[in-house]
Amino acid sequence: MLPFHYEPGDLGPQEVEIAITHCGICHSDLHLISNDWGISQYPFIPGHEIVGAVAAVGSQVKSLQVGQRVGLGWQSSSCGECEWCMRGLENLCPKAECTCVHRNGGYADSVRANARFVVPIPEALESEQAAPLLCAGITVYNPLRNNGVSPSSRVGIVGIGGLGHIAIQFARVFGAEVTAFSTSADKEEEARSLGAHNFVNSRESKAMKEMAGTQDFILSTVSADQDWGSYLQALRPTGTLCFVGVPPSPLSIHLSPLINGRQSICGSPIGSPARLREMLDVAARHGVKAMIESFPMAKANEAIEKVRKNKVRYRAVLAN
Ligand code: NAP
Ligand code: ZN
Repeated sequence: MLPFHYEPGDLGPQEVEIAITHCGICHSDLHLISNDWGISQYPFIPGHEIVGAVAAVGSQVKSLQVGQRVGLGWQSSSCGECEWCMRGLENLCPKAECTCVHRNGGYADSVRANARFVVPIPEALESEQAAPLLCAGITVYNPLRNNGVSPSSRVGIVGIGGLGHIAIQFARVFGAEVTAFSTSADKEEEARSLGAHNFVNSRESKAMKEMAGTQDFILSTVSADQDWGSYLQALRPTGTLCFVGVPPSPLSIHLSPLINGRQSICGSPIGSPARLREMLDVAARHGVKAMIESFPMAKANEAIEKVRKNKVRYRAVLAN
């Protein structure tokens, strides 16, 4: 990445400008930088885990005030008129606008977004620990909530990175028995301190086999190909394997265990603005926060390289 200047033009009537103090580095930024999804248009500024202060509001914005501390995540606008927006599921809007896709995001001084997607940050949350909640937090909170995770659930979290380490904490808040599945044996102690009851080294096929039939809900946050068959085997009857991480290859699996055990495979994208507010409120009340490594904004390239090597514990956050 190189420094890049752009002229944002007039502030739209429903837009908010945020003076950025912090921006987390989500692995999706790395996918966008290297155009893994074939949707990147250069030049662009990555970054979609943004916290800052409202610097200006458009003429029709009544909900936010200049100076207020706010956050912005992956989504920066939606049509506001379709069935999904009307149902309060704006994250499913076909015209959803993403903060840093075909648009400039948060590794920057300022960013703009539609006011509906700019949320106040609860006072109990520190800005640098809250920034990662804006994407990583909502992405793992929403599927736990939508899939009815409860104190009787046994939940597996696959990949203990930015998303995974927050998922462990939320799964614990939902009261579940939590198992961390990781390719990094050295993450065991921290995974347990974040709330995991069990830790499985997913590189050990014997340990994976021993997990057969133990999990109600498995959430994969991994951005690489894995032996997904072994995770399906780890499900109990009626269990669900849910993907939020994006592995490069298509899945190839045998369906008969799924049929016999009435099991499901699903995916989940971020969450609506209402869910985002709910998640922040839950995080503030239950002490869920990102464990972070802080970098000055000017060292964004260094931080990105560390994320790429899976060396960050557990979220890199850029600060202005
Ligand atoms: P991250 O911080 O890099 O963590 C990913 C974790 O995956 C790593 O810490 C690692 O955990 C595990 N992993 C296993 N094998 C790996 C390999 N070969 N290379 C890299 N990681 C490997 O990434 P993140 O920010 O949590 O994002 C994870 C994925 O979620 C990305 O694909 C991202 O695009 C996606 N995402 C999706 C949504 C959505 O809306 N669905 C939102 C945000 C992000 P262990 O060391 O424990 O194995
Ligand atoms: Zn993200």
